Parts: sequence; structure tokens; C-alpha cells
Amino acid sequence: MACRQFDQAADAISLPEAIRDRTKYPRRCLAVALPVKRDDGTVTVFEGYRVQHNLSTGPSKGGIRFHEHVTIGEVAALAMWMSWKCSLVGLPYGGAKGGVIVNPRELSLNELEHLSRRYMQEMINFVGPQIDIPAPDVGTNEQIMGWMMDTYSNHVGHIEPAVVTGKPISLGGSQGRREATGAGVAYLVKSYLTDLGIAIGNATVAIQGFGNVGSETALALAAYGAKVIAISDYTGGIFNAKGIDVPKAVEYLAYARVLKDFHGGEPISNAELLELEATVVIPAALERVITAENAPKLRCRVLAEAANGPTTNEADKVLEGRADLEVIPDVLCNSGGVIVSYFERLQNLQNFYWTRDEVLQKLFAQLDRAKVSVEAQKRKFAFSRRLAALTLGIGRVAEAKQSRGLFP
Ligand code: NAD
Repeated sequence: MACRQFDQAADAISLPEAIRDRTKYPRRCLAVALPVKRDDGTVTVFEGYRVQHNLSTGPSKGGIRFHEHVTIGEVAALAMWMSWKCSLVGLPYGGAKGGVIVNPRELSLNELEHLSRRYMQEMINFVGPQIDIPAPDVGTNEQIMGWMMDTYSNHVGHIEPAVVTGKPISLGGSQGRREATGAGVAYLVKSYLTDLGIAIGNATVAIQGFGNVGSETALALAAYGAKVIAISDYTGGIFNAKGIDVPKAVEYLAYARVLKDFHGGEPISNAELLELEATVVIPAALERVITAENAPKLRCRVLAEAANGPTTNEADKVLEGRADLEVIPDVLCNSGGVIVSYFERLQNLQNFYWTRDEVLQKLFAQLDRAKVSVEAQKRKFAFSRRLAALTLGIGRVAEAKQSRGLFP
């Protein structure tokens, strides 16, 4: 998917052949075996990856995913999207991503800590504040980033908070980082609705995925006055035409761990949720959920891609032909996470910390600038919004590579 998107964008801006493959292919990747002693005394070997896609424009940056369906191809695609995203929103970073094939829910806290520390131990020579800076993604969180930072710091012999972002605040995490991706998604949704002449107070919203990104998006949109009518996680969804009490759902999740049996509405499947009649539909879980099959059936005005790669290439073609539906593409829509990760690293390096208001104000200003540039590119070349965002991101990375020249 990511490669086909790249080819299409490279064609659209007539990217010279000489620079194409250099811009497209990941720069390097590492695959590691991660033996972990289980609580029952047995040893399980997990498989982990880190792919660094682009190193020309700064250290690379990207999350680490703990999920049973992780593959090296998926990690490479996610690393590629990180490159275009960082470039699009003007961050001095390349793109990277990591992953471990594991269902973290099947590990005890102790086993999860061993796995997280072992992963960082294997990555020590591959990552670092000036090389590659991991962050949380699906299945990883602040605590895991804290263990990884501690492992790296023990190795180098001094505290090195800037080696990962998305850390607990007590370890140098940034105010506003936990909610950054969701707050950014909600801010952009509100901004695009304003452009369409729709008051946020009249909007209804359906969100697939209620993890870090989905729940924070729901909270922020509800705080803006939107009515969140459906939410879901891997166990299924909840629908309530009158509006779901989002803070109550977050509270429920904190002790129940899953949304199943939350008494806030009627049960609904993840597939049905995407096809609900709602002003905004937000996939905020995994890739490839909007397909050629369900794309014609979407009944929303705005599809906000909080997840990475939720729309297949085939579905994208269908959506491009639908004048009744606006897509906020992933590389723009969920960029709030990496923008505040950048702020976190800046604060770590200068040892000077900002307030939550300062962080969010700077985040929204950066998102406004990125949105303006995407809309200008879209108008100028009559591109789809995704193509506009990708051509900007890819074009800037290619330009930087060209300016650096080719060594030796
Ligand atoms: P998370 O692990 O916190 O939450 C994932 C959510 O998706 C959970 O509610 C889970 O139950 C649900 N889910 C998993 N499989 C599902 C399925 N098959 N059907 C429906 N729901 C399912 O992860 P997250 O950090 O919220 O990431 C979600 C998405 O956002 C991913 O695509 C990730 O790459 C992207 N993203 C995350 C960040 C970040 O800062 N965490 C930043 C940018 C993009």
C-alpha cells in the first residue's frame, strides 16, 4: 500500500528516476530474537524489528508496536509513512517504526517489562537521541517507554530521557503528549467541519478503536461539543444515538480493560460502526479497514484517518470519486503525536519544560500550517487531499537527499 502510494505521488510530481529509489526504500532494518523468561520458568523467544526509512533529514522517529500480527513489511510501511508525515509537518526527522510479534494482553506485567527491556537492549547500537528515537504505538504505552529509557540510560551510564518519547511526565515526558494525537485529530476535524460550514455542536462522530488515540479523540471532540454516537475496541462496539458518555467509557475501560459490556448503548460490530450515518467517522485502530467493499457504503461527511493506513489503495480510488465525502489523510490527521514527541525531545535536550497550554498552542499552530500547505497543494494541482499531503512530504525528503548529494 505504502509503495503504491509512493509511486503514485512520485509520478504526480515527476520525481526524477535518479532520486526515486533512494527516497522510496527503507535505509536499514534490524530483526532481533527476544528471549523472555516467563513467570512459570519457561522461556519464549519473541521476534522484533526496527526499520529506519529515512535518515537524511535528522534522526529517525517512530513508534513501537506490540501486536500479534506485526510483520516486517508492516513495520517498513509504517516507517515510510513516518518519513512523509514528519516532512509534511516540518519536523527535522526521518521516519522509523518498530514492532514485536506479541499479544501484550497475554503477558503478565513482569513479562511485559522483560520483553520491553530486552527489545531496547537489542536496539542499543541502533537507536539514540541523535540516531533514532522510538515512541509508543499500538500495544505500547508510557510505562513501556519508561522501561526502555531506563534500560538505555543504564547502558550509557547516565540518564538519557531524549532516547524515547511518550514517557511518563516524571521521567521527562511532555505535558500534553498522552493526548497529543487525539487532540490533533479533534482539532483538525473541527477545522475541516468549519470549512464545510458545519458547527461542531451539530456533528455526530463514530470512532473505531478506543486506545490512546481513539479515546483521546473522543474526549476532545466531546469537549468541543460534538456528539460521539459510537465507539469500539477489538471486542466490538457500542452505539447510542443520544450520545455516549465518553468520560464514563474511559473510566469503565480503566478497570474493565475492554469496552465489552459497557452499558452506554447498544452493541454494534466494528464493520457496522464504519458504515454508520455520522458527520465524522474516525478509524483509530489498525490498517486496511476501509476497503473497496465498504468505501461506497460510507455515510459520513468527513473520514478522519486517525489510524495509520486505514484506507486501502482500492478504497482510495472509490473515495476520490465521492464529492460528498472529505478525507483527512493519516499523514496529516494523526501527526499531532509526532509533533508533540518532537516537542518532548526538545524539552529533554534543553532541560526546560513547557506547560500543557504552551504545548497544545504550539501543536495547533503547527497543524494549522500543515493544513494550509496541504490545501494549497490540493488546489494548485487539483490533487486529492491524500496526494497533496504525500507529494509535499515525499517532495521535501527527495529535495533534502538531492541537496546532500550521494556519498561516496
Ligand atoms: P492502542 O493500542 O492504544 O489502541 C488500539 C485500539 O484499537 C484499542 O482500543 C484496540 O482494542 C483497538 N483494536 C485493535 N484491533 C482492533 C480491531 N481488529 N478492530 C477494532 N479495534 C481494534 O493504539 P494507539 O496508540 O491508539 O494507535 C491506534 C492507531 O493510531 C494506530 O494505527 C497507530 O499507528 C496510530 N497512531 C498512534 C499514535 C500514538 O501517538 N499512539 C500516533 C499516530 C498514529
